[in-house]
Amino acid sequence: MKNKINNYDFLIVGAGLIGAIAALALFQKKFKVLVIDKDNKINKDNRTLAVNANSIDFLKKLGIWNLLKFPPQPIDKIVIKDNINRNPLIFKNDDESMGNVILNKEIYKIARQKLKNLNILKIDNSIDTSEIHSNKNLSINNNNYCFKKIIISIGKNILSDITHNSIIFNDKHYSYVGFFRHKIDHKNTAYEFFTNEGPLAILPAPAANKKKSTFIYSSKEKINKTQLQKLIYKKIGASHGNLVFDKSITKFPITPHLTKNNNNFIYIGDSLKSIHPVAGQGWNLGVKDIQTLCKLLDLYSLETKNFNSLYYSRRIIESVIYLSFTSILNFLYESNNSFNTKIIKAGFKGLDKIKFARDIFIKQAMGRINLID
Ligand SMILES: Cc1cc2nc3c(=O)[nH]c(=O)nc-3n(C[C@H](O)[C@H](O)[C@H](O)COP(=O)(O)OP(=O)(O)OC[C@H]3O[C@@H](n4cnc5c(N)ncnc54)[C@H](O)[C@@H]3O)c2cc1C
Repeated sequence: MKNKINNYDFLIVGAGLIGAIAALALFQKKFKVLVIDKDNKINKDNRTLAVNANSIDFLKKLGIWNLLKFPPQPIDKIVIKDNINRNPLIFKNDDESMGNVILNKEIYKIARQKLKNLNILKIDNSIDTSEIHSNKNLSINNNNYCFKKIIISIGKNILSDITHNSIIFNDKHYSYVGFFRHKIDHKNTAYEFFTNEGPLAILPAPAANKKKSTFIYSSKEKINKTQLQKLIYKKIGASHGNLVFDKSITKFPITPHLTKNNNNFIYIGDSLKSIHPVAGQGWNLGVKDIQTLCKLLDLYSLETKNFNSLYYSRRIIESVIYLSFTSILNFLYESNNSFNTKIIKAGFKGLDKIKFARDIFIKQAMGRINLID
């Protein structure tokens, strides 16, 4: 019995915010999936996700959306302000909200629980990805397995795993994340303030009332709690009233990167690419990785010789566009000179005056545009 080989379609390495839901999506498509993670602990990640309309539909299909306990907060309006343009850019969509804000740890908890109920999650902290090959035997927890396809979803841990080849774009920035309560209703409006030190996003936070928000401030300059609170107060004190900050502020490193193709693996989520959080789209892009994979599985069999490259070529364009867009946007504001100011002004003007450009921008943010499918 000990030598029995368990044959599976997919092995997913990493049951994080993307790997776990990828497993559920593949299971729903009737594939035989096993997920391994190095960690059994519930991720207490004190962050929110701005989940766009496309990702919400996806979570609904997986039966995750209806299990959220903290009421998601819709984003009905986005206001973008900077210190270059006099008037803000305001985005609104009349048909449906542009997205919702939810807590990371809720998605993580619900998806992990579903994997456990299906008995397809294994915890093993000795996984060496250089030892894993498709269609070759692999031992996990003293059992033998053979997988047709290997999906790598270990998030940014990929950057310290030498089996994979990633290009890092800029790793000197940090994001500071926290929550605060306020006197005046946030009216389901999200704000993005561009300062020379870095962007500050204020999002409605999941809560029973509309008087709690979260901030995400990203910068390469160090900032202490008092300075950050002063900055937030300066930007939204007038619209939100008295602000009472939660004690803890969490610091996350920002390491925008892109992983090169490797025919042995399918990379998804932050293992394929991570982008600057300024656009609030990293996880939403991970959902698109899974959707593309699922669409390819409708068209091709798992035995198709260049399947992994087909997948990579479909995801690379959007990944590079977001990676470049967010990195360039940051650079334009950080390196404050007259040329950059002109480009920023032209961009604001284009988005303000040209309806077509605004509509594309909104649809893209909502995940309603498929660049290649
Ligand atoms: C400040 C900030 C704000 C953000 N806000 C948004 C937002 O509003 N909207 C949005 O769409 N995105 C946002 N993002 C991006 C989003 O958080 C990430 O894209 C997402 O968390 C990536 O999920 P993942 O599953 O790829 O990685 P992770 O969630 O990091 O999961 C990786 C998993 O792999 C496991 N693992 C690691 N190494 C190994 C190994 N060797 N073997 C086995 N298992 C392993 C880990 O235990 C973990 O469970 C934000 C990012 C930051 C930094």
